[in-house]
Amino acid sequence: MQRTFAIIKPDAVAQGNAGAILAEIEKNGFKIIAMKLMHLSRTQAEGFYAVHRERPFFNDLVTFMTEGPVVAMILQKEQAIKGWRDLMGATNPEQAAEGTLRKRFATNIERNAVHGSDAEETAAFETRYFFNAMEMVG
Ligand code: ATP
Ligand code: MG
Repeated sequence: MQRTFAIIKPDAVAQGNAGAILAEIEKNGFKIIAMKLMHLSRTQAEGFYAVHRERPFFNDLVTFMTEGPVVAMILQKEQAIKGWRDLMGATNPEQAAEGTLRKRFATNIERNAVHGSDAEETAAFETRYFFNAMEMVG
């Protein structure tokens, strides 16, 4: 079993798509280990996306991620990291496959509905950044 860290981003929460995304998570066999609704501060969002600090879209990305509440989660399944990224689809919804969350719910390459860790090390960092042991089930 593997765990990954996931976010339902502010665009999806504001549009009322959180429930549909949670239904997909359950339908695809992920176990929810932790979950909370939160409105990130600028400092919190900058720390989360620190690896992208030098990218031209960094400031816009932080503004987007702080515009409203997000749902942060830890998901568990065999090969959870790859499985969740497959379910999300490509970063740019124009390139995302039919049936993926980004194809269904994303607006553009920035406002793309969901986040998922891209490797074991980032999953470990992101999980600890958002959750402590008492917030995890199992
Ligand atoms: P995430 O890390 O959110 O799961 P990802 O791994 O598919 O997405 P990254 O390259 O890590 O994509 O980019 C992080 C986020 O930054 C993207 O999800 C998107 O919101 C935003 N982003 C990425 N590329 C661009 C871009 N060219 N223009 C604007 N925003 C972008
Ligand atoms: Mg990424």
